[in-house]
Amino acid sequence: MLQLAGFKEESIVDGPGIRATVYFQGCPHHCPGCHNPETHDPQGGLRIPLEELVGMINKNHGITGVTFSGGEPFLQASAAAVLASQVSSLGLNLVVYSGYTYEKLRAAGQLDSSIRQLLEAAWLLIDGPYLKNKQDLNLPYRGSRNQRIIDLKKTLSEGIVTKWAGSGDG
Ligand code: SF4
Repeated sequence: MLQLAGFKEESIVDGPGIRATVYFQGCPHHCPGCHNPETHDPQGGLRIPLEELVGMINKNHGITGVTFSGGEPFLQASAAAVLASQVSSLGLNLVVYSGYTYEKLRAAGQLDSSIRQLLEAAWLLIDGPYLKNKQDLNLPYRGSRNQRIIDLKKTLSEGIVTKWAGSGDG
C-alpha cells in the first residue's frame, strides 16, 4: 500500500520525455514557498494498493518513464522501492525527487535497504529542498539552483556525484 497525493498520466515537466508522475503523500521538509503544501500531511491523500498504481502506469503505452514526486517519496521508501522495481520490469526509466540531498540519502541507505534499493533502481535523482532565495525558473525540471539532477547510475558506479548531462547548469 502507498499513501498517494496524486497521479498524472502524462507529464513533460517532471523529467525528460513523456512520463507518468506519482505524487507521494507526506513531506517533513516544509520548504517555505512549497507549491504542494497539501502533500505534507502523512495521513492525507489516499491509500492505494501498489498493484492498482502499476495498472494505472501500465495503461499508457506512450510514456518512456515514471517520476516519483511529492511530498517526499523517501518517507515511504519501502513501498517506493517495490514500485520502482515494477517500473523497471515494465521497461520504464525512473526519476525520483527528494527534499533530502543525495549524501543524506546515501548515508540513510547504509541502515535502510529500501532507501538503498530505491537509489539503485532510479535513473535520475533531483535532490535537495526547494529554496526560495535560490529560485531559478530557467532550470529544467526543478525550482531552485541548489537542486541537482544526479545521474544515479554513473554516481553509484563511479563513486562520485555526477550530474546528468542535460541538467542545464554546467
Ligand atoms: S520537499 Fe517538495 S513537497 Fe516537500 S516541502 Fe519541499 S518543495 Fe514542498
